[in-house]
Formats: sequence, C-alpha cells, structure tokens
Amino acid sequence: MSASDHPPTQSEERRVKAIAVSRGIGIGPAVFLPESSLHSEHRKISAKAIETEIDRLRFGVDRSRANLDELVGTGTFPQNGSITGIFDTHLLILDSFAVKVEDRIRANYINVEWAIDTVLREAFERHGVGTPAHLREKQLDLKDVAAGILGELRSADRIQYPKGSVIIAGEIRPSTVVEFSHTAPAAIVALRGGWTSHSSILARELEIPMVTGADLSFVDVGDLVVVAGYTGEIVVRPDARTLLDIHGKKESEKLRVANLWQSGNATPETSQVVIRVNLESSLAYDAARHLGVRGIGLYRSESLIPRPGKLPSEDEQHAAYSRIAASVGEAGINIRTFDIGPENIEESAGFERNPALGLRAIRLSLVDPAILTAQLSAILRANERGNISVVIPMVSGITEIRRFRELLVNSAQALLLDGYSVNMPRVGAMIEVPSAVLTAAEIAAEVDFICLGTNDLVQYLLAVDRDNASVADWYQTLHPAVLRAIEYVVAAGRGAGIPVTACGEMAGSPFYIPLLVGLGIRDLSMSAGSVKAAQQLIGGIGISGSEAIAHAALKGKTASEIDSALRRLYSEHWPSLFPDGFLDELH
Ligand code: PEP
Ligand code: MG
Repeated sequence: MSASDHPPTQSEERRVKAIAVSRGIGIGPAVFLPESSLHSEHRKISAKAIETEIDRLRFGVDRSRANLDELVGTGTFPQNGSITGIFDTHLLILDSFAVKVEDRIRANYINVEWAIDTVLREAFERHGVGTPAHLREKQLDLKDVAAGILGELRSADRIQYPKGSVIIAGEIRPSTVVEFSHTAPAAIVALRGGWTSHSSILARELEIPMVTGADLSFVDVGDLVVVAGYTGEIVVRPDARTLLDIHGKKESEKLRVANLWQSGNATPETSQVVIRVNLESSLAYDAARHLGVRGIGLYRSESLIPRPGKLPSEDEQHAAYSRIAASVGEAGINIRTFDIGPENIEESAGFERNPALGLRAIRLSLVDPAILTAQLSAILRANERGNISVVIPMVSGITEIRRFRELLVNSAQALLLDGYSVNMPRVGAMIEVPSAVLTAAEIAAEVDFICLGTNDLVQYLLAVDRDNASVADWYQTLHPAVLRAIEYVVAAGRGAGIPVTACGEMAGSPFYIPLLVGLGIRDLSMSAGSVKAAQQLIGGIGISGSEAIAHAALKGKTASEIDSALRRLYSEHWPSLFPDGFLDELH
C-alpha cells in the first residue's frame, strides 16, 4: 500500500524558523504554488480541502475543453482533417480522464497534480514494454490531455487561491506577488529568497507578511499555518493556546507599528537629506506625494514585463512612462532601463549557469540593442517635460556608459528625423559591482548622477547570492567592505559634484538610514512605507549624530562588531526612536 492510500492523520503543532522579510502576522490555510518546472508538485490534502481541489480540476478541464473546442471548431487546420481528428479524440478522452482523476483525489486525499500523475502511471503500467503501436498512440494522447489540464492549472492557480490563504512556494516571482495581492493572502512562505529579493521588497510594499528559507514540504494543503513576519517563526497546525496567543500579539503589533515613527514632523535636519521613492505606479506616487518626497529615485522598468516573453511594446512603454512622468511633475523620475536576463525575454531561454554574473542588464542591452533602442525611444518620447532621467543597470565600467550614450543619441536622432522634438534625459549609473566602485571617480565623470544599488552591491562585493536563503548569514550589509565601498562612492560623487542616491533596501531601513547619512549620503530612495520612519530618524538623530554613528561603525572589523556598536548607540542615545524589543526585529 503506498503512502497515498492513507487518509491524512491529524498532527501535532509544529514550529519552523525562517527568515523574516516582511513584517506582520498572517494566519490561514496552506495552499501551494506549483513550481514552474515541468514536474508537478505532489501533495497530501486534508478532507476539508477535497472540494477545493475538485474545483481546481474542473477549472482545468473546462479550460482545456475550451481550448480543444477552439482548435477543432475555428478551422485552425482547414486543410487537414486528420489533425482536427486528433483534437476530437482528445475531447473524447478528456471527460473520462477527469472522472478517473476525481476518483483518485477523493480516494487518496491527494492534489490534482498527483492524481493526474497516478492515473497516467496506471494507464502506462497496464501496457508495459511491447505495447502495440495503436495503444502507444493512445498513451501519447492521454499525456497530451494531462499536460493541457496541468498547463491551465499552472497559469490559473494564482487567481484560484481563496482569500486569506498562506501561500507556500519554492520560489515566487515578483509579478506573482503582485497578482496575489488582489486575493489578499494572509502570508507568503518561500523556500528561496532573501530580504533584498524583489519579491520580498514587493511583499513589504504591499504589506503582506512574508518569510523565506523555510521548507514546508511536510505541510498538507488546507493545514492552518501561522506566519510571524517579524520574528520569522512559522507555526503549522497551531493548537488552541498558540492561536489565542497569536491573536493577542497581532493586535499589539498593529498598534506598536502604528505609533512608532509615524507622528514626527520634518525638522531642519530632515531637509538636508532628499527623500525619494522607489515606485512604478502613478497612482502610488499620487498617494506618496503628501509625504513630502521628491520624485521617484528608482523606477524598475522591468516591472512592465508581466511574465517572461511578454516585453511591452514601445507604445505601451511610452504610455506607462508618460503617465508616471506627468504624475511626478518637476520632482522628476529616474527610469532604470530593463535590468533583466535572457530568461525574461524568452521563457524557453536556457538557464545560465550563473545568471547573476551572466548576460543581464546593460550587457544584454548592448548585445541585443533592439530592446534597449525601443525603450530609449519610448523614454525620449515621454520626456516632454524634461523630468525623466535614465539609469543604466549593472554598470561595470565607463565603456558601457559610452556605448549606452551612443545608443541614446541614435534613438534621439531617429526621433528628430521623424519630426519629434526631443529633450535629452540626464543619465545615471547604478553602482553595484565592485569594478564600478573601484572606478567610481571615472564613472562619476561620465554621468549626471549615481544610484548606489546596495542590494546588489552587497551581493557582488561579498559574492553571496541575495536570493539564496541558505547563505543569508553571509549577506552582511554591515560588512566593513560594504561600508568602505559606500564611503568611496560618496567621495567620487562629491569629487565630480554629482548626487549619489542610495536606492537599495538599506536606504529604507530604519537600522541603516542613520549610518548611510553618517557616511555622507544626502539622497535616499526607498519604498513609500519607509518614508515617515526615515524623516523621523533623520530629524531625531541629525547629521552630527549620524556622523558619530558612522564613525563608530567604520572602526568595526566585522559585521557583527558593527551591528553591536549600532545597537548600543541606538539604545543608549535614541531610546525613544528605538524602543526595547524593536531593534531585534530590524534589518
Ligand atoms: C539594488 O541592487 O540595490 C537595486 C536598487 O536594484 P535591484 O534591487 O532592482 O537589483
Ligand atoms: Mg540591483
């Protein structure tokens, strides 16, 4: 008897420690995001989850039937009756196949994907080696029908999840986080990812509690899961006592966050540091404007790509850039050109062995300039007010900047020939690669401003994958090398008389903001949710206090020494800004 033949047993409460990447507490039933690989996930489900699973099956079957109807009925293959005949056969197989799958779900307490695999396996086992040709054909048809249902489930699962679910994933794409936000998930748990992963950044922005680095493969669909997005603790199948405790904590956490850092007013010190936002939507900017922010410091244009292979056209980009440029007005917007790899252009692109070090960002743009040229043309057309700047991602030296400028000039000339009037944008470089840090003075001489991308800076400087939870302990934002690199880049910006905007997650973290200001950063770009805290901290600690913090930090020889020094200073000198218990939860 296989494991799948047993109904699930009621298990005890179980606790798992994960990495907290987005605050808040979420409680809800577990649902699983299928891996995007061809292998479908096998999951036991609870008795309560059976009807939901059958609904998923029906959904997949209905969608497959509609696709087949279309292929047969719309005359897609008018000349070839034998091909339409194949799809007729598929239509006939579909219903009997669905009945068998439903039986397996009910009998074995397993998810649709597992049930489909089981039915397929049984059909194949019945006719092993030496299967006659006509039966092999039938097996292939069956496989095709199964693949159709699985494909529909994969693309639709995102919107099928009930509200308030805890979504469990191996890896979760940023666009998926945004899609999920519409179904108000209670929380997200991902095996891969870290504090600076784009999905984590979005979860914070959308206020969805999220933790990473947790393997919840022992959880069944429908199990109740509690996620504490500030301590990183996960409780699976909580008992009544734990639930009571958690509900109490949830309320007090809400109050604590609402009270801290929300009430302060700007002071003269605050005005010495420019605060911008990292945003991609004009509506969100309209909402952030009243916070007193000065424009958009980082617009990640790849957010316009809803899924791999779906690059927006020049006109779609033009519309998006124009809308947001009109919304920010004089304060201006820094549009970073696509920071993507080949896998974003074509879903089927082979995976690079080392994608973070591969053909991505400016490298890809220079190898395949058509995409960049269309993007630059869209930006130039949208720059009617002259308030758009462009930022080059992942610069490693000045050669890339020069080639980028050539392409920018070419795009401008082509537009002029077409009768457009053109405002040239200011050009900035992302500094996030060690070679760019070490040639920051040369880079600063070739650009109008620098964006200091601390997320990647830490990744590349310390050779630690920012999305790999298993090396999260090596991702040390406070490593002395990182602080020295920041000092170096600030000095290069000063030398050239150009601004240096810090725009990684460090720039929006209450723990690091005073340090950055102390290291000489006078321009921060952060998610809108961090702005009030930043204003309070800069106003409360001031420039001289921040400089004292940076001075102490630069003496540290290890990240943990520096971390302890900061904690000591914060709690001794600014206890009202960093009350007891809060420091432990900050990045
Ligand atoms: C960074 O690397 O710090 C940054 C701002 O860019 P992204 O997080 O998009 O890589
Ligand atoms: Mg980056």
